[in-house]
Amino acid sequence: MRPTWLEIDLGALGRNCAHLAGRAPDAQLIAVVKADAYGHGAVRVARYLRERCGVRRFAVATSGEGAELRAAGIAEPVLLLGALHPDDAEGAARHGLTPTLVTLAAARAFAAARPGGRVQVKVDSGMGRVGVAPAELAGFMAAVEGLGLEVEAIYTHFAVADEDEAETRRQLAVFLEAARALPRRYPLHAANSAAILAGLGTGLDFVRPGVALYGLPPDMKEAPGLEPVLAWKARPTQVKRLPAGHGVGYGLSYRAGGEEWIATLPFGYADGFSRALSNRGWVRWRGGYAPVAGRVSMDQTTVRLPEPVGLDEVFEVVTPDLDERTGLTGRARALGTIHYELATALSRRLPRIYL
Ligand code: PLP
Repeated sequence: MRPTWLEIDLGALGRNCAHLAGRAPDAQLIAVVKADAYGHGAVRVARYLRERCGVRRFAVATSGEGAELRAAGIAEPVLLLGALHPDDAEGAARHGLTPTLVTLAAARAFAAARPGGRVQVKVDSGMGRVGVAPAELAGFMAAVEGLGLEVEAIYTHFAVADEDEAETRRQLAVFLEAARALPRRYPLHAANSAAILAGLGTGLDFVRPGVALYGLPPDMKEAPGLEPVLAWKARPTQVKRLPAGHGVGYGLSYRAGGEEWIATLPFGYADGFSRALSNRGWVRWRGGYAPVAGRVSMDQTTVRLPEPVGLDEVFEVVTPDLDERTGLTGRARALGTIHYELATALSRRLPRIYL
């Protein structure tokens, strides 16, 4: 096995799922497992959530992701969250996925590919990205149903659920008003992780948690009741003593200050360890930290140690906590990004071990 791997704590995933379900007791969960379940492995995550948490619906972003779930035996409804493009209608239909419709062109293409197929319609209640304008919803629904398609639910997405409650309430009100103006009642949903934790939109028919299932706080601060699910570990492939002044890595951007020990770890930016961590990132080691020394390469990263270690030593590249240096959330903050980006950048070539 490759001497660097991810450990995914399925028990923690299950507890997060139960916690979120408890925040929306009257809603059904649509577990968001796009981008390979935020790097955690969509197939194993979906199976576990189905078997241990009673989840009966999933959501992905692309028909390729949906096809992967189908090939693994996930027969439950799978919602395609992105707005369907006519070019993708055939793929969505072939794998029995439920597309999100926001244009008539896509509706027509899907009706042709899957006559009578099930779809969902998304309303733009304020985010300005995808969705039917509230004032056009009634006409759009009539057109979609006129094509013989079955609208299974109508939904919207919040832009600032993690930071602005008043604006989120306003979006929710816009959405509900548009839905209530329709001639009949449809199942509705709106809440992502942040909204579920804030109790907004949790009284609707479904909720759509993503990041919180994986124990990552949607607001990048803290999330009581959630446990991070993922750890990343590595063993060194070489540990070498360098004399003072010796350079390390591409560009020789690091030079040993005295006699130093450098451990080479077998992962790099192609695995999702950002090159921006060159000379400024950390890994956890023996309860402390080892600093990244030199540039992060595509497949290798060098860290400085105060003493030699053997090749069976284990370094923690990502710790399942809110550690400022090695937790996904803390590292994302240090890099000026969000943990969503770091989690979804974890390469598929990293072995995943499920605990
Ligand atoms: N719903 C939609 C439409 C999304 O695009 C996403 C993720 O981006 C989610 C739900 C899940 O969001 P989160 O991971 O913040 O819970």
